[in-house]
Amino acid sequence: QAKEKGRDAHAIYNTEMEEIVQKSLWISSELKRAIVKEQLSLVFQPILDRDGEIVCAEVLLRWTHPEKGPISPAEFIPVAEGSGLIQEIGYWVLKETCYFINRLKARGIVLSSVAINVSARQFNQDLFVENLLTEIMEQGLAADTIELELTEYALLTNLDIIKQRMHVLKESGISIAIDDFGTGYSSLSYLQTLPLSRLKLDAAFVSKIGENDASNAIVKAIINMAHSLNLKVVAEGVETQEQHQFLRDHDCDTFQGYLFSRPLDEEAFIQSLLKPNTIQDGKLTCL
Ligand code: C2E
Ligand code: MG
Ligand code: MG
Ligand code: MG
Repeated sequence: QAKEKGRDAHAIYNTEMEEIVQKSLWISSELKRAIVKEQLSLVFQPILDRDGEIVCAEVLLRWTHPEKGPISPAEFIPVAEGSGLIQEIGYWVLKETCYFINRLKARGIVLSSVAINVSARQFNQDLFVENLLTEIMEQGLAADTIELELTEYALLTNLDIIKQRMHVLKESGISIAIDDFGTGYSSLSYLQTLPLSRLKLDAAFVSKIGENDASNAIVKAIINMAHSLNLKVVAEGVETQEQHQFLRDHDCDTFQGYLFSRPLDEEAFIQSLLKPNTIQDGKLTCL
């Protein structure tokens, strides 16, 4: 009896594994052609300061497959990382972001920063920094507009090399944020040694604000810790007024989430920049 049950579980496990493997194979073979077939695009999500002013855009990659429709980056980025395709895709994102910044500039719009997600494998590539700086220079951009978002996974390899690389970036004016902060498993000691500018408080913490004293305490503690280390804090995934109010009351520096805006295409993003300031008396009115 027990043996049979075990065999069933095994069979189910195999089928699921098989599906996952098939899906990643499909993704990686289709993704290879996605760039040349112009299926990739970028969207931009506003990040607001305490006055409700849009100070930053996070660049988010989109893939629309002609038959399957939109495929989430949460699904295809890990596959691209595994297959090494992330180098090419990452480079494409970088280049397109520089064009985007230049188009904004041509319309008289200068953001204080534009944040680009960089995956661990991409950042740990030998020529990453060199390629990035070359691109920025060739497109005539000020490097200090660029912010890189790295997750803690990018910090799991040789920390000395990472530190050295980050110092080169910092000296060039590029700033670095830790994305999804609080969800990684690495020790916090890197916060003292790496030249970081910002922590992005993961949406998982933001969504629990108001649930109980412990979840509130964690959010407060992360903000206080960041500030005492001279780091700014961005709250990710802000969806309610209550969350926004709590974060403001506890000195969070900037805010991102559906409460303010979803990620937007370039034209819609520019339109939202042209709208006036949206927070009055600490309360958000509209966007
Ligand atoms: P992330 O960098 O943490 O980006 C934030 C994600 O949260 C985005 O999902 C964004 O659309 C979503 N989001 C923003 N506000 C809210 C909210 O209020 N509620 C909820 N439920 N979600 C919100 P998206 O665009 O699907 O991207 C998922 C992840 O894929 C990103 O997480 C990032 O890790 C990765 N990714 C996206 N674009 C790129 C890229 O160009 N390169 C790399 N390497 N990774 C990327
Ligand atoms: Mg990010
Ligand atoms: Mg994040
Ligand atoms: Mg994330």
